[in-house]
Amino acid sequence: MLLEELEKIVGPRAIKTTADAVHPHVTEWRGQVEGKAAAVVQPASTAEVVAVMRHCLAHSVGVVPQGGNTGLCAGGIPDESGTQIVLSLTRLNRIRAIDADDFSLVAEAGCVLSDIQDSAQRAGRLFPLSLGAEGTCQIGGNLATNAGGINVLRYGTARSQVLGLEVVLADGTLWSDLRTLRKNTAGYDLKQLFVGSEGTLGIITAASLKLYPRPAAAQTAFVAIDDAKDAVPLLANLRGALDDQVQAFELISEVAFDFVLRHVDGARSPFDSRSPWYVLIETTAATTDALEASLMEALRTGLARDATIAKSGAEAAELWRLRHSISEAEKHEAPILKHDISVPVGRMAEFLDRSRAELRANWPEATLVAFGHVGDGNLHYNVALPKTWDDAQRTAEGARITQSVYALTGTCGGSFSAEHGVGRTKRDLLRTLGDPTGLDMMRAVKSALDPRGILNPGKVI
Ligand code: FAD
Ligand code: ZN
Repeated sequence: MLLEELEKIVGPRAIKTTADAVHPHVTEWRGQVEGKAAAVVQPASTAEVVAVMRHCLAHSVGVVPQGGNTGLCAGGIPDESGTQIVLSLTRLNRIRAIDADDFSLVAEAGCVLSDIQDSAQRAGRLFPLSLGAEGTCQIGGNLATNAGGINVLRYGTARSQVLGLEVVLADGTLWSDLRTLRKNTAGYDLKQLFVGSEGTLGIITAASLKLYPRPAAAQTAFVAIDDAKDAVPLLANLRGALDDQVQAFELISEVAFDFVLRHVDGARSPFDSRSPWYVLIETTAATTDALEASLMEALRTGLARDATIAKSGAEAAELWRLRHSISEAEKHEAPILKHDISVPVGRMAEFLDRSRAELRANWPEATLVAFGHVGDGNLHYNVALPKTWDDAQRTAEGARITQSVYALTGTCGGSFSAEHGVGRTKRDLLRTLGDPTGLDMMRAVKSALDPRGILNPGKVI
């Protein structure tokens, strides 16, 4: 009955119900979580989203919004009941407006991130949000998860890029404020409520976004360092020397690097000898002079053991490919326990010292595969579990390792979810580690905006 009504709204070709057609929408990127759905519905306009939500509310059917389905916390995957529908935003993929003088762009939620970057570039502007999944993830998903990525150091997270939003609420009410105002203090900043809400408060259908001048030049360097701790003073020195023109600063452990060299076609190290840690740096200085001088100083003082600066765009792209391939390469290796943690940058060294000591003392057979956006205090603190462990050991010891990582993250004033969100896989963690007053406020917001609980049920809170 509901499905017939939905078919009338979106047309027969935009509703999928066969197992084969539904499967990619109910399976998480790594294949670790799989749900069931009554249907995958793909509206082509905001008006269709409004009509879909009205019908789903009338039938009390849970709605799981989905963008590119690259999220790493199963936030866009329905539960196992088979009663929920997946609302895929893929067909809402128009750039509605671009205004170079206003440094703004209005995009529909289903626009792929790299398409938005390209549109900005054609207009002579920069849209700085950038992450490994940018060829697949969609701006609606980026905003719903408040995605971070590699340029947060200079430009901030997805949250900082939003000027306005168009959102369909749980009962089908349309709230639209796509004004591109830089300043507006008329009441609560409602758009920010939806950013990072992971589809639990409303369906984002469009966004107006901030654009920036394109940097005149970009310099990319790859640096070998002895210890991850050295990355923190190295970054501080570079920021000082380069007048804060460091736009990305990515840490890569030797183990993560080896995974890439083993599994990614054509990947090769820029250095002859190995190093326990590497950093990939991108700056937007006009010339390489300051970068070169700063790296020479780092080599002299021992903060760095080797360094190379890309001589061409192609060389820079090769270096970036090494970084962007880590998540893909990990898939081919041992079972990996993933942690997306953040701590204040100033306590990164303490966190690394203490966490590595704990890992060595209690789980000497496990291997740390850390990498990430160390300039933001954000580490993908992943642990490769020994292949010799059986399923029971992986579950039990894995849980203990995770517990110790999160306990230490808390001690260092950090967060168990830096940029991937809570979704389904970290919901219990939020319940146990979240601040009780903060959780009460989140529940109050949720019940005000979605009193019947049909938006992404079972996610976040
Ligand atoms: P989905 O996975 O489809 O959905 C994610 C969440 O948003 C779900 O809860 C879903 O319900 C909700 N949602 C989606 N669209 C909407 C909408 N229109 N309205 C309301 N709710 C919606 N993340 C980072 O932050 N930084 C990284 O560096 C990074 N690197 C990655 C690298 C790889 C290789 C991969 C696979 C993922 C990476 N991610 C990273 C995670 C992921 O790409 C981001 O979380 C991304 O923002 C998700 O976008 P998506 O369109 O795929 O969303
Ligand atoms: Zn990341």
